[in-house]
Amino acid sequence: MNLSPTIQDALNKQLKAELFSSHLYLGLENYFDGLGLKGFAHWMRKHADEERGHALTFLAFIRDRQGTPVIPALEAPQQGWGSPQEAVTAAFNHEKAVTEMIHALYELAKKEGDNATAVFLHTFVDEQVEEEALFDDVVKRTALAGTGSGLLVLDQELGKRE
Ligand code: MG
Repeated sequence: MNLSPTIQDALNKQLKAELFSSHLYLGLENYFDGLGLKGFAHWMRKHADEERGHALTFLAFIRDRQGTPVIPALEAPQQGWGSPQEAVTAAFNHEKAVTEMIHALYELAKKEGDNATAVFLHTFVDEQVEEEALFDDVVKRTALAGTGSGLLVLDQELGKRE
């Protein structure tokens, strides 16, 4: 079963969103590196790489379905933030928006009777539950860390992310 034009457009839109996520986290890596918070920067770089991986998974799926993937132009992400707290909160809010997109895409696939796309998206529905839990944790612990030495302790811990 070939991709319908509607599903193909929606998958390409998600491909772009995942690439933009990678771009956003690279911007956040840049921000944290500028502050000297190398652990936060490392954590964001790892996340940027993970989002690029998501984008490539969508790219491969569109190809596997004999569709036409589109490599999109991307807008520059925000690169200045008021504080580490503001930066990680923005990242968390971004993940919530991505969750909404994945759920809308899943609903669309079901509505169009595209079972292969619906099943493909199960991984991403699960993934977003993990992402939100992960970012919620970082937002809470950044708030607890404050702006002094607590932030440096958290920075060391985030730097250990593999
Ligand atoms: Mg993603």
